[in-house]
Amino acid sequence: MKDAGQKKILVTGGAGFLGSHLCERLLGEGHDVLCVDNFYTGSKRNVKHLHDSTSFELVRHDITFPLYVEVDEIYNMACPASPVHYQNDPVQTTKVCVHGSINMLGLAKRVKAKILQASTSEVYGDPTVHPQPESYCGTVSPIGPRACYDEGKRCAETLFFDYRRQYNLPIKVARIFNTYGPRMHPDDGRVVSNFIVQALTGKPITMYGDGSQTRSFCYVDDLIEGLTRLMATPDDFTGPVNIGNPAEATILELAEKILAITGSKSELVFRPLPEHDPKRRQPDLTLAREKLGYSPKVGWDEGLEKTAAYFDEILSTGRFDAMRRIHPERRVAT
Ligand code: NAD
Ligand code: UDP
Ligand code: UDP
Repeated sequence: MKDAGQKKILVTGGAGFLGSHLCERLLGEGHDVLCVDNFYTGSKRNVKHLHDSTSFELVRHDITFPLYVEVDEIYNMACPASPVHYQNDPVQTTKVCVHGSINMLGLAKRVKAKILQASTSEVYGDPTVHPQPESYCGTVSPIGPRACYDEGKRCAETLFFDYRRQYNLPIKVARIFNTYGPRMHPDDGRVVSNFIVQALTGKPITMYGDGSQTRSFCYVDDLIEGLTRLMATPDDFTGPVNIGNPAEATILELAEKILAITGSKSELVFRPLPEHDPKRRQPDLTLAREKLGYSPKVGWDEGLEKTAAYFDEILSTGRFDAMRRIHPERRVAT
């Protein structure tokens, strides 16, 4: 018999890194989960363990095309998140942010569902305010190589707020700061997975620039906790709200920490800093604390150790090579 609190929840991008953890969490809470993904960066492997549950359904679909399903809530996570992948097909990146959001908002409007957008700290661009509060409007180039993602996500936020103003849709906007953890793709291209894979395989650690730029890294479990708390807020709370971990570090410090955790002797090699790479980034979590009672629990040591253990396991069991065959043209880590 259906539980009164049980909802039918759509997770777009549900076979990706964050999406797969979110599907797992929602199933664990007793909900029916519909995972929709076109496997651009995600993989069936990420959700394979969820198929035992009759409450889980996986559908291959690109959200830039309309989708007609009946659901109570939507987490719109679909979009490549790593600069390497979102810049590989920038027009598609803008399409998934804009056309994809319009379709998911149209769906939410038709079925009267609550909808949450996975936005990003990239809406702040290369910030002149530090740490970044939600009131800061950002410093973003509309024409640079990151613009397909940054401006795409900004336009998605605009669409969410216009559907709210025009149709009174219950919306939630989460601005996610750099998040890492198990199930990142070995060729994801983001710094944590790159450095761990390089450290574990004895390859050089690719430091872009001099490594003095900062990020604030959040472990995946904390991030998922923040997203579900946001979805559960009353309809009059829309966000945008920052979700992440305020512990800020330079990329050089990150490399040193990963070398220590893995016991690796990999050397650092310095490569040019990508264009428009933000110099620093740290969430102001005042609003998240106040409205969601959110505070991250997992520190660097624990989070990086768990992530390194994941990559160590896929390397030692041969799954690594099989996973790498998926995106040979977009390989980055080694
Ligand atoms: P990811 O690349 O692992 O996951 C994205 C998923 O979306 C993949 O499974 C991919 O196949 C799917 N996808 C892409 N285009 C699609 C389309 N047109 N239709 C259906 N599915 C599509 O990245 P992630 O880290 O899990 O990020 C998930 C979301 O969170 C993204 O929207 C991203 O912008 C946002 N976000 C993530 C971070 C982070 O640090 N992980 C930071 C800020 C924002
Ligand atoms: N849409 C969808 N699923 C639905 C309802 C709508 O994918 O269940 C898409 C549809 O393609 C539409 C878009 O969402 O173009 C926006 O819908 P809306 O009702 O806001 O505007 P419309 O374009 O239909 O006037
Ligand atoms: N970076 C690096 N080496 C890598 C990958 C990334 O030095 O192999 C740097 C990158 O230039 C940026 C930071 O690490 O300054 C975080 O990069 P990532 O792609 O993980 O996320 P984002 O730039 O979107 O925050």
